Amino acid sequence: MELHYASAPENASIARLASRYQMFVDGKFIDGQGPDLESTNPATGKPLAAVSSASAADVDTAVAAARRAYENVWSAMPGAERGKYLFRIARGIAERARELAVLETLDNGKPIRETRDFDVPNAAQHFFYYAGWADKIQHAGFGSRPGALGVAAQVIPWNFPLLMAAWKLAPALAAGNTVVIKPAETTSLSILILAEIIADAGLPAGVVNILPGAGDIGAALVEHDGVDKVAFTGSTAVGKKIQHSLAGTHKKLTLELGGKGANIVFADAAQDQAVEGVVNGIFFNQGQVCCAGSRLLVQESIAEEFLDRLKTRAAALRVGDPLDKNTDVGAINSAAQLTKITELCAAGSNEGAGRWTSPAMLPEQGFFVAPTIFTDATASMRISREEIFGPVLAVSTFRTPDEAVAKANNTPYGLSAGVWTEKGSRAMGVAAGLKAGVVWDNTFNKFDPTAAFGGYGESGFGREGGPSGLAAYLNTDDEGVL
Ligand code: NAP
Ligand code: MG
Repeated sequence: MELHYASAPENASIARLASRYQMFVDGKFIDGQGPDLESTNPATGKPLAAVSSASAADVDTAVAAARRAYENVWSAMPGAERGKYLFRIARGIAERARELAVLETLDNGKPIRETRDFDVPNAAQHFFYYAGWADKIQHAGFGSRPGALGVAAQVIPWNFPLLMAAWKLAPALAAGNTVVIKPAETTSLSILILAEIIADAGLPAGVVNILPGAGDIGAALVEHDGVDKVAFTGSTAVGKKIQHSLAGTHKKLTLELGGKGANIVFADAAQDQAVEGVVNGIFFNQGQVCCAGSRLLVQESIAEEFLDRLKTRAAALRVGDPLDKNTDVGAINSAAQLTKITELCAAGSNEGAGRWTSPAMLPEQGFFVAPTIFTDATASMRISREEIFGPVLAVSTFRTPDEAVAKANNTPYGLSAGVWTEKGSRAMGVAAGLKAGVVWDNTFNKFDPTAAFGGYGESGFGREGGPSGLAAYLNTDDEGVL
């Protein structure tokens, strides 16, 4: 029986959207010398707000402000004092949670259910978690005299705009660094509200500087002589460029890049739970997740039944207005990303995979893709090799655990994987063979600020979250002791 839902849209006015946003440099909101960016609402394709952007000269100004703040205030401040600012920022996020959730949904296109229940609370949790670390760094196994690195340059993507800002800022500040950060061109709004929260928390001027801008500003920032540390999350192609341009410098680098995660379902798995996990793995955030479970490996003996259940479940996902509290799958972030997904889906059909598309009605305007499942996806197909970053699953089968591990590892990436089985020893055995930074057992896409997250191979290096996330922002005697 088909269920009909009345629409339940969140009120867009809660976002308190301004017509134009400014950069945040040296404690002040100022105009940049770059051209204004136009932020779009992906659910309508219409302009949302203008954002002042940085020029190369603004990068100089921001890095100089971060250096002054580092030398004059932040590096000399006791950890316990730094921690107080982080606690205040965490509380500020919680206090403005509803506004941030609606704004993020308007700017990014992701469902309000996700911004409200995942992105925003997780962002606050990261600040709470690292706030608690600020006064313990000297005594936690980071070496005999761990110290901050100096000025950190950070570049973040559009898929979790506020959350990625929190992942980057909280450990950097807790460890005693100052920061210049560039959000993605299509999603600058939530981090500029975070700037208001940071200003309200009384953070000393120049400790955090936010420079909206395009890729050239990201490049100017990471290549700037005045920075000591670079942290980047985004595509493998840009990550490689950055690694190249930083070679031979003193800058410490962490890269969190793409992925092509495998969800491995054994015949003995609790099937309905595994279906939920696979759905969450690839349709959460429209599949625009670096650690998405974008490949399903299902044991041959249950493949037919499992795929039937999966399609039935995926067909029930509600695609549409991201502000509607019933929506499961929202809008793709940009027209460019929509084009990329459409092109890769066409490649999947052309290369001979079986294509199933959800019968969900798509809105007439905006950037939407119906949940899509490709069966009989062979290892050589583009849909099996390339990160699609969309709600598109590539399915293949396996017979033995060894074959599952070999297939899961048959990718240049190595960020995430999931194992679904009732048998603990099998889960542990398979996990030990997987070359992935995170392996989830009978669950998927679970995040916790206490847990390290990061990749192998073309998924990058360095860890975010947990004590290892702090080590990335510290001079330690022994690299990676934790
Ligand atoms: P991207 O180009 O790597 O963008 C990530 C960030 O880097 C953005 O802030 C971007 O600015 C900036 N940037 C671009 N060129 C740069 C350069 N030469 N030096 C320094 N910074 C630079 O990723 P994208 O184009 O938005 O997405 C392309 C693909 O990357 C996606 O389809 C997906 O496969 C992957 N991706 C992965 C993640 C992840 O979490 N691992 C996140 C996003 C995308 P602009 O926004 O102005 O371009
Ligand atoms: Mg936008």
